[in-house]
Amino acid sequence: MKHLPNYRALFLQHLAQTSPAPLLLEIERAEGVYLYDTQGKRYIDLISGIAVSNVGHSHPAIVQAICEQARKHLHTMVYGEYVQAPQVAFAQALVNTLPPSLNTVYFTNSGAEAVEGAMKLAKRYTGRFEIIAARNAYHGSTQGALSLQSQETYKRAFRPLLPFVNYINIESQSDLEKITSQTAAVIIEPIRAECGVQIPGQEWMKQLRKRCTETGALLIFDEIQTGMGRTGTWWALEHYHTTPDILLSAKSLGGGLPLGAFIAPQEIMRTLSHDPILGHITTFGGHPLSCAAGLAALHIIKDALPEVEQKGQLLEKLLGHNPHIKEIRRKGLMMAVDVGSWEILQEVIRHALHNGVIVDWFLFNNHSIRIAPPLTITEAEIEMAAQILNESINRAFND
Ligand code: PLP
Repeated sequence: MKHLPNYRALFLQHLAQTSPAPLLLEIERAEGVYLYDTQGKRYIDLISGIAVSNVGHSHPAIVQAICEQARKHLHTMVYGEYVQAPQVAFAQALVNTLPPSLNTVYFTNSGAEAVEGAMKLAKRYTGRFEIIAARNAYHGSTQGALSLQSQETYKRAFRPLLPFVNYINIESQSDLEKITSQTAAVIIEPIRAECGVQIPGQEWMKQLRKRCTETGALLIFDEIQTGMGRTGTWWALEHYHTTPDILLSAKSLGGGLPLGAFIAPQEIMRTLSHDPILGHITTFGGHPLSCAAGLAALHIIKDALPEVEQKGQLLEKLLGHNPHIKEIRRKGLMMAVDVGSWEILQEVIRHALHNGVIVDWFLFNNHSIRIAPPLTITEAEIEMAAQILNESINRAFND
């Protein structure tokens, strides 16, 4: 018999760890909404690898686009010098999903890099240095993005971080006064994901836009989780009829390959190319493989989009019958299911995993189940997943 290396032990030995308790699933292959481990066990992925696999895993059209591009060329030059067809075609398709003013794309490798680029762009364009972020939001783990996080727990060990960062509470009328003519940018997630899908009202969003326009502060929407169809529209901004000055995307943008972007009007973006030149540069940002995959993903999402809200409603209805659930917060297929406590939540996750459904917790919410399945999930798969999840919730409460 062929002797396989003990990858689990080697993972713990040779790969840097981010927590003392990694999930340690050993995935061999993935297809559609399913992950398969090395023992052949099948799991329904209800979290899309944390809001990445909006088109499911290894979609044939994405694999084909990657192979075709790989046969043509891989990396040829750092970002912004050569005309690379996959980048251009994807940028054009992407801006066509957005309000007309958001017409210029700067591709990055990740979400945090898009955040960094956007903060630099706002400083450069406005000549100001204060950034205002929302409390309990998450924008990434690099030093600039981490500076935007309000929780001291995650920041203390890494100080000093960026100065001149202030915070507002979402939906606070009085906090809007903190935005002044000193403010370079206000960055928010239109729906805050990591505090458990918190959905603000339309009116406050309108007032936020108004205040930014009045003070000359740029409004940045971090749509890294909410974008690319997740909430039932291309972008969450559509729910608010509000256009930011800069929009951020990543995670699902590359159809499963690493890709991020900050997107802004050309007049704003242009300032990164002079005084100084090379105001923001990257070697791999907008990699041709990622852009080819992203374009293929965009077409798949376009087809899936009309049914996203309906599928979300079905999942909400199937879980909504469960008397143990305290609250469900949802937009499209972005959902948080409140089960009341950290202990119960951990039990639900454990039982669900045992029974072949992957759900998770949120960074800043210790009592809600994270649910964000691929947008391509079928109604039959939703029914199957909901049944296992309901059983897992019932077991967690009855144990
Ligand atoms: N912004 C939001 C809303 C996110 O959820 C994340 C990652 O979870 C980021 C930014 C950072 O993205 P990345 O992990 O690709 O750096």
